[in-house]
Amino acid sequence: MELRALGNTGLNLSCVGFGASPLGNVFGDVPEEEAIASVRLAFQSGINFFDTSPYYGGTVSEKVLGKALKALGVPRNEYIVSTKCGRYKEGFDFSAERVTRSIEESLQRLQLDYVDILQCHDIEFGSLDQIVNETIPALQKLKEAGKTRFIGITGLPLNVYTYVLDRVPPGSVDVILSYCHYCINDSTLEDLIPYLKSKGVGIINASPLAMGLLTESGPPQWHPASPALKSACQAAAACCKKKGKNISKLAMQYSLLNKDITTVLVGIKSVEQVEQNVAAARELETSGIDQEALAEVEAILNPVKNQTWPSGIQKS
Ligand code: NAD
Repeated sequence: MELRALGNTGLNLSCVGFGASPLGNVFGDVPEEEAIASVRLAFQSGINFFDTSPYYGGTVSEKVLGKALKALGVPRNEYIVSTKCGRYKEGFDFSAERVTRSIEESLQRLQLDYVDILQCHDIEFGSLDQIVNETIPALQKLKEAGKTRFIGITGLPLNVYTYVLDRVPPGSVDVILSYCHYCINDSTLEDLIPYLKSKGVGIINASPLAMGLLTESGPPQWHPASPALKSACQAAAACCKKKGKNISKLAMQYSLLNKDITTVLVGIKSVEQVEQNVAAARELETSGIDQEALAEVEAILNPVKNQTWPSGIQKS
């Protein structure tokens, strides 16, 4: 599996990352044995990056991931773990006090002494000035205390990144995690890449399958996309299927093609999905992307291209 450098961190992440939100049962129930086997196969296949949050399944994802990583029985420096703070089942709290307590709770659930990346989770739901003036400085202290090696921010609207990065001291935010903005139906993250590179900030691109829109089985009930976007994606998936092709493979490969993106973080809930996503990356290296299928899917999705949904409490 290809490794790519993450901004200025010195970390090299596998180009496919393991998104562990499904291990919190947010995309349907995942038996613990299947979760553990999935993490094992992912690691054996060259995936070295695992992402979770206390929010996923109300702490379940962190606990299951911790168990699965421990079961690997390999030295801690062979895998890279990111978790988050500020978003919980109970709601949002980006105060210094809460995020400082949060990392201790996460480390306990993950059975780790430190995480590699600690990210403020979905900052558009908090006060961005609090993130700049209180949360990031608190995370800086946690970094100095060795609880996390690097600091990140996550969110859906792309303007939250520039707001924060323009205001914090250079080098205090190492990574951003953007989701649903670099997939076949929405590639708006692309415009932000030169800015992020100029700041030396690493780029994690999550949700290459648009949280299930770009799958044959379709998105979960809670998916926030408009009916028009959902039905266009369904039509694209059906068109691929009719031709014996798979939209999820195409979607993974589309995101992997952009080498400015360090890792394509896909949510995984089974051994089969590890196999499929690893195979998509390997096939891309050897044979390239299926240009004909991509052109057809892009044509179907063109009327809804870059359509997103509201998220957060910011006034624009
Ligand atoms: P995704 O686009 O990766 O889609 C996940 C869905 O697709 C799940 O139902 C999964 O089981 C299914 N899937 C995976 N591989 C498949 C395949 N080959 N064929 C068919 N179906 C497949 O969306 P996601 O899980 O929301 O995002 C990935 C990860 O990124 C999350 O697990 C999480 O770690 C992270 N993330 C973070 C944030 C944030 O911080 N705000 C937001 C979204 C995602």
